[in-house]
Amino acid sequence: MKTIKELRGMLDKKEISSVELTKEYLDRAERLNGELNAYITISRGEALSEAERADKKIAEGGALPLTGIPLAIKDNICIEGVRTTCASKMLENFNPIYNATAIEKLNEQGAVYLGKTNMDEFAMGGSSQTSYFGGPKNPYDTERVPGGSSGGSAAAVAADICAAALGSDTGGSIRQPSSFCGVTGLKPTYGTVSRYGLIAFASSLDQIGPIANSAEDCGIILNAIAGRDRHDQTSRCTGVSDYTSLVGGSIKGKKIAMPKEFFGEGIDDEVKECVFAAAKFFEENGAELVEVSIPTLKYAVSSYYLLACAEASSNLARYDGVKYGYRAEDAESFDELIKRSRYEGFGREVKRRILLGTYALSSGYYDAYYKKAMAVRQQFIKEHKAIFEKCDVMLTPTAPTVAYKCSENIDDPVKMYLADVCTVTSNMVGIPTVSTPCGYDKNGMPIGVSISANHFEDAKVIQFADCFEKQFSKQAARI
Ligand code: GLN
Repeated sequence: MKTIKELRGMLDKKEISSVELTKEYLDRAERLNGELNAYITISRGEALSEAERADKKIAEGGALPLTGIPLAIKDNICIEGVRTTCASKMLENFNPIYNATAIEKLNEQGAVYLGKTNMDEFAMGGSSQTSYFGGPKNPYDTERVPGGSSGGSAAAVAADICAAALGSDTGGSIRQPSSFCGVTGLKPTYGTVSRYGLIAFASSLDQIGPIANSAEDCGIILNAIAGRDRHDQTSRCTGVSDYTSLVGGSIKGKKIAMPKEFFGEGIDDEVKECVFAAAKFFEENGAELVEVSIPTLKYAVSSYYLLACAEASSNLARYDGVKYGYRAEDAESFDELIKRSRYEGFGREVKRRILLGTYALSSGYYDAYYKKAMAVRQQFIKEHKAIFEKCDVMLTPTAPTVAYKCSENIDDPVKMYLADVCTVTSNMVGIPTVSTPCGYDKNGMPIGVSISANHFEDAKVIQFADCFEKQFSKQAARI
């Protein structure tokens, strides 16, 4: 298992070529994917030609931080000419005719794409088991889920079948699978990375971000993909030129907020213990722990699901069997074509959310549901603002439990939704949050701790996670 930083050194010193490195990852990925199902598509041919181009760039002395580094990309991020399915029958044969902006930016660096990773259908879920292509498995225990919705990306990093990956996070989909698979995942501040070419789920919450072997690697990737983009009016020029610039800086005297509601009922004891141990580490290194409160947390899951489903119901209206995507055969009328295409093309969870969202937005119900959820969102913003006025970062568990068995929870949507309580507020507020491994339970399953900061302070969360990682001894996945 090597970090991007280590691989960069090896490539630049010509100890290995990008083609050799890419082949190693591809061989291992092809060998393990039968068991792991982390990739929906492995693109050997494309990856090797990208690696050849990267080797030329390195030979010419033009190497950038990600030149020749083999990455995995979540299958809801468009790569021109590479099948992008969103893990749905609806897009089973969709070949994008353009690159997502994040991909364009990685191309400028000469990164290599090994393939597209498995996920929950349309990124809706927390286990990746709603994938039309069958769920991916956790490399620490293949009877368990890797988390979701970026489960394939997190599993691929943990199993060392890519150097790092891109995921997307609407309500925890980068951080929770990172926690379940014992790797580091960063949800950037909303607007830092362009959403152009990311297949939309809930546009006011969606953000692309890195999953990697270290917080510093996450920063290296964020450096490449961040920036204002004229194709996404919510993208921002953040003014940050290097997200790794605070790495190695002292945390002495920094204030760490610990919101008490995140450590209450429903959070496993082993998870709490490990997160408290992480807090203690920071305290011993000169930081001050401050107990704070987010009283509105009890409304987090309900308001998130209202807003996310409302936006999803609108975003997914475009899949009508007419323009692109799955089309039902032999429909007798236009109405029937649309109805049947959507009925046959979407899975159960996606349909459930479209129904929920459409209901919440219908006239007569709008004030009772959507408007109230928006008011809760404003309240969250206020409560977080107050915390970051006095504290530098906030420390919480990433998920209430470790990864569960593949058969668990899948038939109980409410139970699944409730498991998102630790992650959704970060999206509703729009702040940056990183999850990094902080321990293992009695079965050896990884536990993650989350570090959040105020808007556009992504470099700070990377600094804290890096500081913790430098003294934490990771246990490799068993696969
Ligand atoms: N688990 C959450 C959901 O199901 C988050 C999904 C996401 O971040 N894409 O909506």
